[in-house]
Amino acid sequence: MKPFSFSREPDLTGLLRDKTATAAFLGGGTNLVDLMKKGIAEPDRILYTQGSGLSSTLQVASSGMTLGALMTNSAVAANPEIQQQFPLLSKAILAGASPQIRNMATTAGNLLQRTRCPYFYNTSLPCNKREPGTGCSALQGTEQRMNAIIGWSQTCVAVHPSDMCVALAALDAQVLTESKTGGLKTIPFDQFHRLPETDATRDSNLPTDAVITGVQLAANRFARHSAYVKVRDRTSYAFALVSVAAALELDGSTIRQVRLASGGVAHKPWRWTAAEQYLTGKKAAPDQFAKAADLVLAETKPLAHNGFKKSLLRGAFITALEEATQGA
Ligand SMILES: Cc1cc2nc3c(=O)[nH]c(=O)nc-3n(C[C@H](O)[C@H](O)[C@H](O)COP(=O)(O)OP(=O)(O)OC[C@H]3O[C@@H](n4cnc5c(N)ncnc54)[C@H](O)[C@@H]3O)c2cc1C
Repeated sequence: MKPFSFSREPDLTGLLRDKTATAAFLGGGTNLVDLMKKGIAEPDRILYTQGSGLSSTLQVASSGMTLGALMTNSAVAANPEIQQQFPLLSKAILAGASPQIRNMATTAGNLLQRTRCPYFYNTSLPCNKREPGTGCSALQGTEQRMNAIIGWSQTCVAVHPSDMCVALAALDAQVLTESKTGGLKTIPFDQFHRLPETDATRDSNLPTDAVITGVQLAANRFARHSAYVKVRDRTSYAFALVSVAAALELDGSTIRQVRLASGGVAHKPWRWTAAEQYLTGKKAAPDQFAKAADLVLAETKPLAHNGFKKSLLRGAFITALEEATQGA
C-alpha cells in the first residue's frame, strides 16, 4: 500500500481545508481501504470524517427526512421512521452486503463506493477507470456478468454496485454537499452519478473538494406500495446482477404515480422513465406490467456475454411491480 498521512479534524472547516484531488475522505472504510490495499486507490492523505461535525443521525420534518452523511447503513435500515415512511430504502439496504459491513458503511460512502467490474480489480489488465486512455478490457472480455446493459460507452461498461442508491434514485433523493469554493449545494440524485461517456474515472459529479453532508428525502405517498427485487448469484453477500425498485401510489387499482429504478444495469442507478409514463393512469395489472417491461427491455443494449440479463430484468421488473401492488 502506498504510504499516506491520516488526519482527523474536529470540524467541517478543517476537513474541507485539507481536501485536495489526491486526498480522500474516509467513512466506514469498507470500500476505500480494500481499494488502497489493492493499489487501485492511492490517496496521499486520508481525512477521517468521524468526529468532524458531519451528522450520524436522522432529521425528521413534516416535509421529509435528512439522513446524516455518517448514518450507518444498518441505522438507516432499522430506523422506525424510515421503515414507516420509506420502507423501500430499508428493503434495498438490507438486500446488500452483510450485517457487519452495513454496521460500518456510511450513507455518504455507499453513494461513492466504486464498481465491482472484475477488470477494474485486475491491475494486470488495462482499464480506463483505473488508468484513463489504456482501454476497456471488459468490453472485449468474456467476464461480463457484472457489467452494463444500458448507458455504457466504448470507454467503460462498468455498473454502479449500490443497492441503497437504487432506492434513493426511485425516491428522487437529493444529495447535500459542502465545499470550500462552492459552499452548500444540493444535487438531485439523478444528476449525482454520471455515465462513462469518454471519461470513466469519475463516477459522480461531486466536485473533488466537496464533502457529502447528507441525503434528503421528500415526503411521498409510496410507503404502502413499494418493493425491491434483487437477482444475484447467491441469496446473500453478493452484488446485484440486476435489481428493481418499484414504488406505486394507487387509487383503488389505478396507478396514480409510479417510480421505477434498477441497479446492476448501468454506470449509475437507472430510472425507467418511459415505463413510468406508460404505467401512470393504467390499472395495476399483469398485462400492463408486461407491456411496461417490453418498453424497459427495448431500451437495453447488452454486451456480447451478458444478454441473459434481459430475461432476469424482465422477471425482476414484473415481480417488483406485483409485490409493490400487493403492498407491505
Ligand atoms: C464483501 C462486500 C460485499 C458487499 N456487498 C454489497 C451489496 O451487495 N450491495 C451494496 O450496495 N453494497 C455492498 N457492499 C459495499 C458497501 O455497501 C460499501 O463498501 C459501503 O457502503 C461503503 O461505505 P463506507 O462508509 O465504508 O465507504 P468508504 O469505504 O469509507 O468510502 C467510499 C468512498 O466514499 C468516499 N467518501 C466517504 N465519505 C464521504 C463523504 N462524507 N463525502 C465525500 N466522499 C466520501 C470515500 O473517499 C471513498 O471514495 C459490499 C462490500 C463488501 C466489502
